[in-house]
Amino acid sequence: MLNIAIDGYVGSGKSTLAHELAKKMNLKVLDTGAIYRSITCFYQEKFGNLVSSDLVEELVKNLEVEIEFKGDSQIVFVNGKDYTNKIRQEEISILTSLLAPYLSVREKVLSVQRKFAKDYNCVIEGRDIGTVVLPKANFKFFVTASEQTRAQRRYSQIKDKQKVTFDQILQDLQQRDYNDTHRKVAPLVPAKDAIILDTTDLTLGQTVEKCLEIIKGK
Ligand code: C5P
Repeated sequence: MLNIAIDGYVGSGKSTLAHELAKKMNLKVLDTGAIYRSITCFYQEKFGNLVSSDLVEELVKNLEVEIEFKGDSQIVFVNGKDYTNKIRQEEISILTSLLAPYLSVREKVLSVQRKFAKDYNCVIEGRDIGTVVLPKANFKFFVTASEQTRAQRRYSQIKDKQKVTFDQILQDLQQRDYNDTHRKVAPLVPAKDAIILDTTDLTLGQTVEKCLEIIKGK
């Protein structure tokens, strides 16, 4: 199987890059953030907005995660429920970064991700794919961009769909970066053998071309 790992910060462009690469190389894409987000929606529905280890352990006792595809769209079912309409909300973004550090949650998601990588030639994008999930991935990319650029991209993506200001997005992004990079389990760091892509001054097309050159060159 061919497995490509793409990790990176909020708004770095990793998701768009994953989809473009997959289109050009005929691969499937797994958006792992959507899995953590869907589990978070389920948690919120059951327990509300306060995250505690007792409640997380209660959550994982009976947690079933399944992935389906409708065309190119990935749908995550958590205990049979589809939260697609809710997962991108800003309050879910922050809550997800509070739930994602729990080892028991990560272990649950780990098995889903590894099974996917075994079943498909694929691009898997997230935070710990190159370091923890697929340490032997054929290619590992770590995508980054300046904080202002990332906040602007995220703001443009959601400003027409949600009531948010640029400053709120920037603040949330800084908080999430902090939570993701400072957690003990599977923190957001580049794998030692990852290729770092700074997309601040690159268009999507240029970023995709750069990755394709690297892949073809090997
Ligand atoms: O990529 P996305 O912004 O959708 O991820 C939402 C959150 O899910 C991240 O901020 C992070 O806390 C968590 N996450 C993670 N590991 C992954 C993917 C996402 O911890 N592989």
